[in-house]
Amino acid sequence: MKTTINQKGFLIDGTKCIGCRACQIACKQWNELPAEKTEFFGGDGYQNPADLSSKTYTLIKYREVIKKDKLVDWVFHKDQCQHCLEPACVSACIVGALQKTAAGPVVWEDRRCIGCRYCMLACPYNIPKFEWYSINPDIKKCTLCSDRIENGLPPACAKACSTGAITYGSRDELLKEAKKRLKSGPDTYYQHIYGEDEVGGTCVLNISSIPLEEFGYPGNLPKESLSTTTDPAMKSIPGVVIGLGAALGITAFIVNKHKKQLSEESQSQGDQS
Ligand code: SF4
Ligand code: SF4
Ligand code: SF4
Repeated sequence: MKTTINQKGFLIDGTKCIGCRACQIACKQWNELPAEKTEFFGGDGYQNPADLSSKTYTLIKYREVIKKDKLVDWVFHKDQCQHCLEPACVSACIVGALQKTAAGPVVWEDRRCIGCRYCMLACPYNIPKFEWYSINPDIKKCTLCSDRIENGLPPACAKACSTGAITYGSRDELLKEAKKRLKSGPDTYYQHIYGEDEVGGTCVLNISSIPLEEFGYPGNLPKESLSTTTDPAMKSIPGVVIGLGAALGITAFIVNKHKKQLSEESQSQGDQS
């Protein structure tokens, strides 16, 4: 078994989720994300908004299923970044705007992002989202609340969940717990832990009464990390493109620094008047 002893993550248990979306709201509150204008039936299920976006880092997906007794039932799934052990988004980013931390979270840095969107193409779960509406767009996604974790706090969504559908902890311990639940509930759980092996494993482990493929997750992903293919692919990009990426990265850094200075100056002028 791959050792991930120091890495933290989630066990998302769809059988315990009641679709209340307290986690979705807590994520918005902690990350100061605005509400979105949405349309019902805008996506592949009954959830609203239809998909993750640069303003929605986590989303409860809704599926209607017919049970064995022919009664209709609801199944829910919490969608978010899976915090891969060897993330393809990180190896695809030519300016180091996305980073895998030793504690588990895959985080991003606004001031480095040049908006090339390679990470969006590389991610097998379609997670990084672009700020299409912004004149200075960046990539956004769940950070596993690394800012809270660093200060000894649990992620905001996990704290808000009152049903035990989101367990935060050591990935190794969560994997043991997931196996225990599957063994003790053969009729309750679809017998697969999504994230145990997919693309080299993820810090977010998912169990449910139905396959995750029903929520739009890809089936039959390779067990080896996609970074083994994105790394050589990115290395084969001509030096001139890398040079251009680095130049754009430096430009983005200077522009962001200038914007910060302007904002601080206007703030101090406001304080004086
Ligand atoms: S807070 Fe818990 S129960 Fe409510 S929607 Fe989120 S995961 Fe499900
Ligand atoms: S799920 Fe996608 S965005 Fe998240 S760490 Fe993995 S590759 Fe990166
Ligand atoms: S871990 Fe933090 S950023 Fe990620 S979905 Fe939960 S509240 Fe949002």
